[in-house]
This record gives sequence, structure tokens and C-alpha cells, in this order.
Amino acid sequence: MNTGSKPDISRTKSAELYEKSKTYFPGGVNSPVRAFKSVYGTPLFIEKGDGCYIWDADGNQFIDFCGSWGPLILGHNHPKIREKVTEVMQNGMSFGAPTALENELAELIIKNNRFVEKIRFTSSGTEAVMSAIRLARGFTGRDKILKFEGCYHGHSDSLLVKAGSGLVTFGETSSAGVPKSFAEETIVIPLNDKTAIEQAFTQFKDQIAAVIIEGIPANNGLIIQDEEYIKFLRKICTDHGSLLIFDEVITGFRVGFEGAAAHYDITPDIVTYGKIIGGGLPVGMYGASAEIMAHISPDGGVYQAGTLSGNPVAMAAGIATLTELNKSGFYKDLNAKAQEFVASIQRFATARNYKFKVFTIGSIFWFAFTDKDKIQSADDIDAGSMEKFKIMHRELLNRGIYLGPSGYEVGFVSSAHTKIELEKAKRAIFEALDLVF
Ligand code: PLP
Repeated sequence: MNTGSKPDISRTKSAELYEKSKTYFPGGVNSPVRAFKSVYGTPLFIEKGDGCYIWDADGNQFIDFCGSWGPLILGHNHPKIREKVTEVMQNGMSFGAPTALENELAELIIKNNRFVEKIRFTSSGTEAVMSAIRLARGFTGRDKILKFEGCYHGHSDSLLVKAGSGLVTFGETSSAGVPKSFAEETIVIPLNDKTAIEQAFTQFKDQIAAVIIEGIPANNGLIIQDEEYIKFLRKICTDHGSLLIFDEVITGFRVGFEGAAAHYDITPDIVTYGKIIGGGLPVGMYGASAEIMAHISPDGGVYQAGTLSGNPVAMAAGIATLTELNKSGFYKDLNAKAQEFVASIQRFATARNYKFKVFTIGSIFWFAFTDKDKIQSADDIDAGSMEKFKIMHRELLNRGIYLGPSGYEVGFVSSAHTKIELEKAKRAIFEALDLVF
């Protein structure tokens, strides 16, 4: 059913705005992936969102599968969130003092989550992870941390580190401006590789404060780890007195109310959340047992603070969001809907022998141009796959479907996507695949 390429959507207003934004911001954006560097055309400037739809400055309408990179599990402009935020805003925006709203959101999280006894709110996922690392170092009295190649944990110095050439390496900085000496405290190993982690613990005996992993790695493709491997990680950390940090900034409240930790049925020592718990406003959070969290200031020696931490408006958005997610059947319905959607896309591609796999869990999916059933890292996928993604992305935009502008990024189905939009999206994806192959 090759219907041919559709004409490009109009980007006149977006292009004008982009020209202007380039005079203000490096690369014209406030976060690099937004610059559309690896897909076709100038970035789209978004004007509004409602439910699963967004509209750009030129009036183009899209079914959105980016969801602001994950937070919008209930879709855009959800009435319950809007109402709660509007109500709270009537009383002021920020006090830099405790409010009852912080207790309310904390209670929703702690009472329904077996992995945290005490928590701290921050203003972003980056801050949450950075603070979790400091906490692990303060708690264990050790300096080194171990991370996995391909996992992203925000943009703090010690985590902007990539693997060198060996199996177990001190990382090399992945950003200019990160001191080499910082990267030397970060060990980087491949995902899903028992030998590498055993070697790391032998080589750096009694030096590793924490192992940090994305609950389900979803920032460099969706690289689902073997359950047995995650259980092994848990055990090796315990055996060596290192803490296991589960970075659930994407997976927390996404794959279920208790995130990837519950999915794997393991108990991390520290978990970090972000995105969804702010309902679209800036929030991050880290939490652990009361014993570990006792090390945080003001009572403990690990310093961490924030002018806007626990901001009342952000707390309100989080409360409204988690209240919806905590309703019986929420995840069952969302995940079933998403899984049906991706399964039919996979069936279509398989029937046509396209080298295309949809990796998926819950309501997260990743389109990969490969015929491998399992991949170790996004680099395992076929050469030229990002070029294929580029074609797909352009064809989908031209058909009113918005995916994040990078082939390494995952997509999200929200509770606002109905059968109607998912059917429409499927048809567009089928057409785009026919054009790619
Ligand atoms: N950790 C993970 C797993 C993430 O996906 C992200 C952001 O995408 C972060 C941390 C950083 O969060 P933020 O962008 O809110 O600073």
C-alpha cells in the first residue's frame, strides 16, 4: 500500500521563531535534542496541547507520542491537573518554606511504594540523580560509582561519562567541561554483562559506592535487561557493600506505580524519580530507607538543597497525576492499549519482512530498524538505521504523528490516546514503513 510521500507540513512560523530563538539560545534551544539535529527540517515550535494532541505555531495538529519526553502519562492539559494547579496557584507560587502539599505528594508516594521510606523532592531528574550519587558516597564513604554504557542519568558531571575501549573502563568524559579527574571516579561497563561487573568489583574492591542503572534503560533505545541480570546486580552490590541506585526518572510511575523495581521484584537501595511525579511541571525526587536518608542534611552530613524544591504548584500537579494513576486498573488499561498498538505494528512489519522491531514494555515503545530480537546496546542496530528513522519521522510528521526527534529516543502512549488516534497512528506508521523500505 505505498501511498507515496506526503507534502511537507508548513513550517513557516516555526522557522521564523527558530531564526529568532537562535539569536537568544545556543543552537536556538534550551535542551539539545529539541533542535531536530538528527531529523528533517527546522524544529517545530509547539503552541498548545490537549489530550493526546499538540498543535504547532503553524497550526499543524499532531498525535503526540513524545509526551514531553515522558511526564505526560495522562496526556496534555488534563482537567484534574489543571484544576488542582489553578486552585493552588491562587495562594501564591513559591514560599521557600514547607507546605502541606509536599506532605500530600510524599504520602501518595511512600504509602504506595515499598521502596522508599523517606524522600526528598528536587526540581529535576538530574538533581535527583546527582543527589542520590552524593548520598551513596556519603553513606558508604567510597568515591567510585559504576554506570552502564548507554544509560543516561541527566547532565551532572560525574554521569556525563562514556565507556573507553576496554570491558571495564574509567569513563571518558562525554562532554567538554567535565574534568578528567571526575570521570576517573566513574567506571563504565556494558549492559547485561555479568563478567564486566564481576571484573569491576574485583578491580575496584571496596571502592565502589554505588552501581547506578536506569530501571529499564530507555535513553539509548529501549534495552530491556534480563531479569536474572538485574537480580544478579542486586546481589553483587549487597555482597560488596555497594548501593544499588535505580534511576526511575522515566520508568517510575510509567511501567507501574512502583516502577521497574516492582517489575523486577528487587529492592534498590536508592531510587530516583522525576518526569511523571511532576505532572508536567519541574520535579525530581530521590528516596531510600529511613536509615540511608538519615544521612541527608540538615540531620546528616550529605548536603543537598533547592530554592524551588517541593514547589507548591509542582506538588499540586504531582498530586493530581498520582491520584489518577493510583486508581484501580489504570496501568492494566494503559499497558493493554499500548501493547495492542505496538503488536499490530510489529505484525505489519513482520508480515512484510521489514527489518524493523518494536521493543516495548508497558506504555513505552522504541522503533528499531533491525531484525535482531534482542540487542545489547543501540549501537547494535543496523548501520543506516538512523537514516531510516529520519525518513520515518518526516513521513509521520507529514501525517500528523509526532515522535521525539531522535531515533534513539523512546515513545510513550498516554491514557489520553484513544482507539481512534491509535488506529490513525497505526495507518500512518504502516505508510511510513512502506516508504522507508
Ligand atoms: N535519568 C533518566 C533515566 C532520564 O531519562 C533523565 C532525563 O531524560 C534524567 C535522569 C534527567 O532528568 P531531567 O531531564 O529532569 O534533569
